[in-house]
Amino acid sequence: MSANPKQAREDHFERDMAQYRADFPALVQEVNGHPLAFLDSAASSQRAQPVIDAVTHYETHDHANVHRGVHTLSQRATESYEGARESVQRFINGASTREVVFTRGTTESINLVAQCFAGPRLSAGDEVLITHLEHHANIVPWQMLCERTGAKLIVAHVEDDGSVPAENVTSRFTDRTRILAISAVSNALGTVLPLDEIIPAAKAADITVVVDGAQAVPHQQVDVQALGADFFAFSAHKMVGPTGIGVLWGRETLLDAMPPWQGGGDMIETVTLEKSTWNTLPYKFEAGTPNISGAVGLGAAVEYLQGVGMDNISRYEHLLLNVLTEQLEAQGDVRIVGTAPGKAAVVSFLMDGVHPHDLGTIVDHHGVAVRTGHHCAMPIMQRFDVPGTARASLAFYNNRDDIDALVASLATVRKLFK
Ligand code: PMP
Repeated sequence: MSANPKQAREDHFERDMAQYRADFPALVQEVNGHPLAFLDSAASSQRAQPVIDAVTHYETHDHANVHRGVHTLSQRATESYEGARESVQRFINGASTREVVFTRGTTESINLVAQCFAGPRLSAGDEVLITHLEHHANIVPWQMLCERTGAKLIVAHVEDDGSVPAENVTSRFTDRTRILAISAVSNALGTVLPLDEIIPAAKAADITVVVDGAQAVPHQQVDVQALGADFFAFSAHKMVGPTGIGVLWGRETLLDAMPPWQGGGDMIETVTLEKSTWNTLPYKFEAGTPNISGAVGLGAAVEYLQGVGMDNISRYEHLLLNVLTEQLEAQGDVRIVGTAPGKAAVVSFLMDGVHPHDLGTIVDHHGVAVRTGHHCAMPIMQRFDVPGTARASLAFYNNRDDIDALVASLATVRKLFK
């Protein structure tokens, strides 16, 4: 036994978590002659084998169109599709499956809210409040809407360390603030926003709150009812699921009051050549044949994540984040951009005198995958006066070897460029 029981427990926990790496077949390969160290999960995570299996099973045995058929395969496909919705509802603790709308992902979910909820409600002079660190998906739809309606886009300040104290947001509330559109976790900096303070204040001020949860759902337990927002958006591909599928969760009363998003099959109740009426929730927002196998994959992904345990994921990723941060800080010539306390699994950094793209290319020669550039968050890069950063992002399938591989490859970058 270790002399230090706390350390022994930590070691045991780390060994336990290490087993999940084997569930990710894409991680078992060499890239450019080196074992792959995949540190780009914030852009898109790898797929768990149970997710791949669920999608393959569906495609191999159960595929047919949903909702419309009486035959067996159509019923099986419908059960799988609606079963996935139930899994998602349980995962985020939605009050009902009527609140879980399948979309293409976070981007489409936010656009849906901007156009169908906010569009009819905003007039000239109203305000939409965002923060300076939002992903383009939570900036551009609001800019487009403001252009159309004459509403104003107001931007809450981000501190030099990348943090966003609640005050920075709540102090921007005015009697014209109609919408607060805000990330739970920043993809570019890893900042975790204090939504538990911000949302109650926004609700007290009668502001509708739209949360971009793309980087929260993969890393921490999300309970949409406890959070108290009005809308919450996320993507399956960042949480060990497939691309092309995501979720808009919304309060039933709000979704009910909204006009449909697109017209077509499945979203109707009746159609005559003169007039159509709309289906019930959530189908009102799911026009056309949906991404059935994507939903099956998403359902399998949330079941898998729940099996691992979101609290375990959070704890393990924080352990790795501390190791990664310490190792990068020890480099001397590396500057971390975004050092807010309590960050989630993302480290954005710069190496003195080396362009991030060069860094990304050289580390890839060593099998290390990091993202470089503006991370679809140009305004926050401008805020920090950098063209972009290199970003290492973690998932629970990473380990200390991945971090060591990154640090070792930085030595080569240094040799080549300095
Ligand atoms: N918001 C955040 C915080 C993100 O990280 C991303 C993906 N990088 C998005 C929105 C957009 O997600 P998607 O491309 O899956 O629609």
